[in-house]
Amino acid sequence: MQIEPDRIKPESWLVSAGRIDEPGAPLNVPPIPASNFTLGAGRGYARGDGTPTWEALEAVLGGLEAGKAVAFSSGMAAVAALFDQLPAEAVVVLPEDCYQGVVGLAEAGARKQRWSVRRVAVDDTAGWVRACAEADLVWLESPSNPLLTVADLEAICAAPRKMGAIVVVDNTFATPLNQQPLELGATVSLQSATKFIGGHSDLLAGVATTRDEAMWQALRTSRELTGATPGTLEAFLATRGARTLAVRLQRAQQNAMLLAERLEEHPIVTRVRYPGLPSHPTHETARRVLKGFGTMISFDVRGGAREADAVCAGVRLIHHATSLGAVESTIERRAAVPGQEHLPPSLLRLSVGIEDADDLWADLASAIERATGQ
Ligand SMILES: *Cc1c(COP(=O)(O)O)cnc(C)c1O
Repeated sequence: MQIEPDRIKPESWLVSAGRIDEPGAPLNVPPIPASNFTLGAGRGYARGDGTPTWEALEAVLGGLEAGKAVAFSSGMAAVAALFDQLPAEAVVVLPEDCYQGVVGLAEAGARKQRWSVRRVAVDDTAGWVRACAEADLVWLESPSNPLLTVADLEAICAAPRKMGAIVVVDNTFATPLNQQPLELGATVSLQSATKFIGGHSDLLAGVATTRDEAMWQALRTSRELTGATPGTLEAFLATRGARTLAVRLQRAQQNAMLLAERLEEHPIVTRVRYPGLPSHPTHETARRVLKGFGTMISFDVRGGAREADAVCAGVRLIHHATSLGAVESTIERRAAVPGQEHLPPSLLRLSVGIEDADDLWADLASAIERATGQ
């Protein structure tokens, strides 16, 4: 018998949920490559009815937030399914600092007059409370990408809403271990499972979790009609990744705190953004709403784009690569990414992995020193 999620800690749930509990059965639901099933047991065609492999992932992540989950082919597929729920002429409010794929999708829909888009600063709590009263879709992302500003989700998710409005929290950076948006009152908590859930840079998947039965049904229908279904290997790997999420996150977070503190003391580093540092503009909010400060750090080196590019070219243990949330540390200059030119030119975004912290620091410090000719 499966233990109920409210009887055990999230760390134990991640390890124990979504398994097969029958004598002789494998402990893990295997990747089941099936488009269709023999009729008669309630499961016919996979696109609409799902597969046991997807359901294992949904059971793990849904139970983690005391909701029901729908797994998608990517985080953006889950995002698109949520925008798919909007009525005509809807008002959408997005954060000023927001995942660029979400901005791109929202702006494309606005150009086709499917909805209108407004932006609110992540830390403008009063602005978000107003948005809840006026908007049909309130889209929050916290900590934000790449400035790592923390929104006061406690206050925002509790604010009175326009009738029928949905509040979505893109919880990718925090993961459900650091932040539980549904518990605070959000309609949907979203994960790009490509990042921390998978945790090994080897898959694309997304998961939307809700406690609203009608929303869950609507997301399932959207997935069925648009065909945004997860691959069976990806769902299997994402579930396997989730098993170790708690230890990976704990270790990477420890590393991140240490690197953030050392970066802040480094004479060639002009600015460090990490929610765990007392100098971070939303540190107090982070202490209140987050269980952990995460594994993402943004920092600027003295000089400009050229010096920052040289840091990326100079790291050896850390990889010069985009994305985040994996066991390996990655770094990139965000303003070099198309659509991100508005960011400070020397801003480097570091996703801290689970390597040894001293090795990471030695690699980073020597790349910074060589890049800036110190
Ligand atoms: C990566 C990411 C997404 C999109 O997820 P994909 O799996 O790449 O489609 C959405 N939101 C955030 C915050 C992300 O980091």
